[in-house]
Amino acid sequence: MPELPEVETIKNELLPHVMGHRITGITLFWEGIVRQPSVQEFCSRLIGQEITGIARRGKYLIFNLSSSGLLIVHLKMTGALIVGRNSAESPRFTRAVIYLDNNTGIFLRDPRKFGVMWLAEGTGDIDRKLGPEPLEAGFTAQVLTERLSRRTAPIKALLLDQKAIAGIGNMYADEALFAAGVHPRRAGGSLSQGEVERLHGAIQRILRAAIGNKGASVDTYFRPDGSEGTAHYEFKVAHRLGGKTCPVCGGPIERIVVRNRGTYFCPKCQPVS
Ligand SMILES: [Zn+2]
Repeated sequence: MPELPEVETIKNELLPHVMGHRITGITLFWEGIVRQPSVQEFCSRLIGQEITGIARRGKYLIFNLSSSGLLIVHLKMTGALIVGRNSAESPRFTRAVIYLDNNTGIFLRDPRKFGVMWLAEGTGDIDRKLGPEPLEAGFTAQVLTERLSRRTAPIKALLLDQKAIAGIGNMYADEALFAAGVHPRRAGGSLSQGEVERLHGAIQRILRAAIGNKGASVDTYFRPDGSEGTAHYEFKVAHRLGGKTCPVCGGPIERIVVRNRGTYFCPKCQPVS
């Protein structure tokens, strides 16, 4: 699933193709991708609008429109936004195409069809579902401490809880816990102050490095030009199995399931207590 670094990369790399351009048409190959309003109204309200900017909040992409409305996109498990010539043939699994006045099209490709987009007047609905942005200045170690205090859920589950912290998914949660030396099943509230500080530093460092590497292409993530990110080459534990060893202690990496999510870690470097 595209996580914060992947969505941030998509935002950054789409921007020069769409900024200041007008939407001239929309083709929907899968109408289920539109959450609201009706498909007909969605298309008629979008066509003619200029895209005046793109923002990211958590894993959501927010297109600002000249009408002051917003087009919000969530790529969910397997979505990608690919930029191409408007005359180009749609890539396989394209569910929607947004055509712009600069002869380009944004192709929303989504093999599993979980991705959604909708029109909104503001970001209130998504803000209510999201905790703080981990790369914003206000996200201090103290804020993380408050988010985790008295929580009995496993720290891995809390990192994935978008209401606790926005934008972190399975890959970067595993990487951050490994870097901090914290076992993924530890209760969130059981972490010492030192562990929370290490985790806070690890989250910011790992997310920033992954943005620098344009995201991780372990499955279906592609950048808008169709190329892959390289952040997964830096992974120490996430998605590393099959005889892969811990880069710190040389021991085997294990995969366990925490609250239904596959979780990679090093039992030696991330002891239970
Ligand atoms: Zn290790």
